[in-house]
Amino acid sequence: ASNEGRQYRLGLLTGDGIGPEIVPAAVTVADAAFAAAGRPGAVEWTEFPIGHEAIRELGSPIPDSTLDGLAGTDGWLLGPHDSAAYPEPHRSRLNPSGTIRKHFDLYANIRPAKGLPGATAIAPQTDLVIVRENTQGFYADRSTYRGTGEYMPTPDVAIAMGVFTRPAIERIARTAFQLARQRRRHVTIVHKANVLQLTTGMFKAVTLEVAAEFPDVTVDDFHIDAMTVHLLRRPGDFDVIVTENMFGDILSDLTGELAGSLGIAPSINAAENVAMAQASHGAAPDIAGRGIANPTAIILSAAMLLEWLAGRHDDPVAREAARLIDSGVSAAVAAGVSTPDLGGTASTAEFAKAVVAAIQDGR
Ligand code: ATP
Ligand code: MG
Repeated sequence: ASNEGRQYRLGLLTGDGIGPEIVPAAVTVADAAFAAAGRPGAVEWTEFPIGHEAIRELGSPIPDSTLDGLAGTDGWLLGPHDSAAYPEPHRSRLNPSGTIRKHFDLYANIRPAKGLPGATAIAPQTDLVIVRENTQGFYADRSTYRGTGEYMPTPDVAIAMGVFTRPAIERIARTAFQLARQRRRHVTIVHKANVLQLTTGMFKAVTLEVAAEFPDVTVDDFHIDAMTVHLLRRPGDFDVIVTENMFGDILSDLTGELAGSLGIAPSINAAENVAMAQASHGAAPDIAGRGIANPTAIILSAAMLLEWLAGRHDDPVAREAARLIDSGVSAAVAAGVSTPDLGGTASTAEFAKAVVAAIQDGR
């Protein structure tokens, strides 16, 4: 009953490239899903500038006012940023999503890879989730470890550091095991403990310690190199994969492509109290402004955000809205409506409209 009429304040960061096309599509679909789930107007959306727009208006691609504004929300949708095209000094600095992740300590990057019926995929039977530690490992933040994260002792020698800490491993491991309990109760730890014994060896050891708290979940582990082979040979055997930052970055591109394509791969970045929905793809400047971008990844990311809110607030209506988005996207694609990247002819707006129609018909 405490959830009756619950409202969420969600931020909207439209971003660059195809952002202005795909982000509004996700908003339309999320609003339709909450309405169909019985709570119309459940989300109060607030826009905050990032990217080129923010550089023009406020002199920074990720202004302090945007970070301050986000702090008052329950979560947000992050559109893509084309930081390679920013003028200096902005181009050399930490990009908007990196800045936001660091500011809010969004330590869990959760990337599902699941086939979409009707869309072609190398391995359509894939149904797994990568849980990637997002704050340290072999992408240890260069500004935190100033001068040592990555450095050159001489012009001919470059050194990068990996950072692994027990608290960071424990919290990402718990995220993975809790997620596994909602799925097929199987966690796979990916590391390289035979070579990187202290760093990834610690990742493996601490994750196994956390595993003892979850006796109902099956655990196995593989070296990162062997894991790529297992994923290609038998992707359907994996459920939740937990790993450090760089391994997770690489593996999630592999699993995303096994299950489908860039345009459909969603993700969230979560902390304890806040989460950010973000498509796995970039700003796609080559197709921006033509109304043909695939909004599926950001739409499914929005669904993940609603599912995360549902868990955090024990809110069945948000859970139902998330489920309606997932099934609406599947229904639209299965009915043959898709954007050109998936071989169809629908525009971004037409695809979103088909998803909304499927949600309203309860498909
Ligand atoms: P970033 O460094 O920001 O991740 P990237 O170099 O990985 O960028 P993307 O912007 O993701 O590149 O684009 C890679 C290719 O995939 C481009 O050809 C782009 O048009 C295509 N692409 C990416 N996202 C979509 C989408 N949502 N719909 C259709 N095509 C897309
Ligand atoms: Mg990319």
